[in-house]
Amino acid sequence: MTRYDDPIELAAVVAAAVRPTLIGLDVDGVLAPIVAHAGEARLLEGVSEALSALEDDEQIHIAVVSGRSIADLDRFGFSPGIALIGSHGMETRGRSMPRLSQEEIDRLDELSKLTTNAAAEAGKGAWVETKPASVVLHVREADAITSESAIQSLRAAAAAIDGTAIKEGSAVLELLARPADKGSAITLYKAELGAATTVFVGDDVTDEDAFAALGDSDITIKVGDAVTVANYRLNDPHDVLRWIRQVHEVLQTG
Ligand SMILES: [Mg+2]
Repeated sequence: MTRYDDPIELAAVVAAAVRPTLIGLDVDGVLAPIVAHAGEARLLEGVSEALSALEDDEQIHIAVVSGRSIADLDRFGFSPGIALIGSHGMETRGRSMPRLSQEEIDRLDELSKLTTNAAAEAGKGAWVETKPASVVLHVREADAITSESAIQSLRAAAAAIDGTAIKEGSAVLELLARPADKGSAITLYKAELGAATTVFVGDDVTDEDAFAALGDSDITIKVGDAVTVANYRLNDPHDVLRWIRQVHEVLQTG
C-alpha cells in the first residue's frame, strides 16, 4: 500500500528549508482535479487564494510549471505575482517564445497530420490539441481499446521523425517539434531567481524530469500513487491545498 505524507508535517519540512524558496507546481492532478475533458479543468476551490497568500511572502517564489500552453494556463486566473511556465518549459508568461525554425514548422505540420489521423482511429471522444510547438492527442473519453492501438501507432510514427520529442501522460500523447522538459525549465528558473531551496510538486510522468533534475537540498513531492523518484508523496489536490495553506501558516507564525 502506498504511504502518503501528512500535509501538515510536510509543510513543516518546507517551512524549515533554507530560503529563498522556489515552489514549482504542476496544474492538472495537483492544483486542479483531473477531469474527463482537459478544457473543463478548474482549480480546486481555495487554491488561488492560498497561492496568492503564500506568494506575498518575499522569501517565497511560486511558479506554475505545466504542459499546458500559456494561453491555456491564462484562463485559470493565477495572480500576476505567480510565474507561469507553460508547454513543458517552452513558454513563460510575459516573455516571447523564440520563433520556430522552418525545420520545426515542417515537423509540427507533419506531426499534426499524424495526430489528426490517430484521433480518427481512436474514435469518438478522442480530440487533438494544438500548442505553439507541439500537438497532443487526448483519449481520456475515447474507447480504451481503439485508443490504445491509435496511441501505439502514433508513437511509432512520430518516433520515426527526426527531432521529435514524445511525452506520454495519462490518456494523452504529446508530440513536440521542439524538445522541452520540466527539469530544464525548473533548474533554469531556480538559477535565475537564486533560490536556495526548490520544491516541486507534480503527479504525472513529465513531472519526473523535474524531480530528477533537482538536488539533495531540494524537496520533491509526488501527488498520487504512481512510481516516482520524488522524496515525498501527497494523496490528492485536497492534500496539496492543505499543505499550501499550512506552509503559509507556519511561515506567518514562524
Ligand atoms: Mg499533472
